[in-house]
Amino acid sequence: MKNRWSLSSIFKCSVRKYLNSLQRYNKEGKMLATTATGNSNANSNKVIKPYLAAFDFDYTVVAQNTDTVIRDLLPPNKLTKDLHDIIELGGWTEYMAEVFRRLHASEIKAEKILQTIHGIPEVPGFQRMLKRLKTKYNCDLIVISDSNSLFIEEWLKFHGLAEYFTKIFTNPARFEDNGLLTIQPFHHQTDCRMSSVNLCKGKVLEHFLIEQDLRLNLSYDRVIYVGDGNNDICPVTKLRSRDLACPREGFSMERTLTKNPLKLKVRAELLTWKTGFDLLDKLERHMEKNEKLNQQEKIKHNKTLENTSSAYDGPAK
Ligand SMILES: [Mg+2]
Ligand SMILES: [Zn+2]
Repeated sequence: MKNRWSLSSIFKCSVRKYLNSLQRYNKEGKMLATTATGNSNANSNKVIKPYLAAFDFDYTVVAQNTDTVIRDLLPPNKLTKDLHDIIELGGWTEYMAEVFRRLHASEIKAEKILQTIHGIPEVPGFQRMLKRLKTKYNCDLIVISDSNSLFIEEWLKFHGLAEYFTKIFTNPARFEDNGLLTIQPFHHQTDCRMSSVNLCKGKVLEHFLIEQDLRLNLSYDRVIYVGDGNNDICPVTKLRSRDLACPREGFSMERTLTKNPLKLKVRAELLTWKTGFDLLDKLERHMEKNEKLNQQEKIKHNKTLENTSSAYDGPAK
């Protein structure tokens, strides 16, 4: 006989709770749960932060593909067909694991790899944008990327941005004592066919939102997803109508989203961008508009409360 909750039943319950809250958002297009500003509800300690911004990394935050930049440190005679065949046979993570083995065999040292990562340029305006989203708008920032933890953490640290991020979801990687860089898949999944086996960004985003709710009693009024590639489509299909999907102009994510919005059942508003400068501009305009709307909703709500309480006082005399 079961006399306590199993982990899976707690997880299922929180998924149900989160899906219910999504449905409430979707039907009514506004926040119904208790807010940090004091709307009354059974769940009185609930905190709702205005924004979560989730970012892809390669070609979104940085201007190149971190994996191929490092792969190209290999001498040309190591870039063979059998290396390339691994992409089809074992997937991208397995391919990169072999690239790292060949780099090690070619005596390409950790310092060289790190230096190269540090030198990858940002997409113009992204550093400024990330800092501003965090410091001025109190956005929580996360990365969801199919690169690896070492490259992303090193780049962010080198550019003084690591502390701005709540979490980085990616394939774990590290240097072994002998200098070999090793990489593991983030997870193994087969049920999402939009995503690769080693990383479904949609699942990652959903789980993060559930975890924030479950552990911190925290949810977000709006979620912003910024990316460029086709592996950024799955998380966008999880967004609500009040959220923002931000595909990079001229890249595959934008092409796919504008070709098939109905088939993909994307509810979020689309906001395309070219650089961090124009994305920040567009987001700031959006945020200011929402701030006004929230203020109006708050005034309306307070007036309703006033009217309700005066009705209890009996007719005016
Ligand atoms: Mg990308
Ligand atoms: Zn997926």
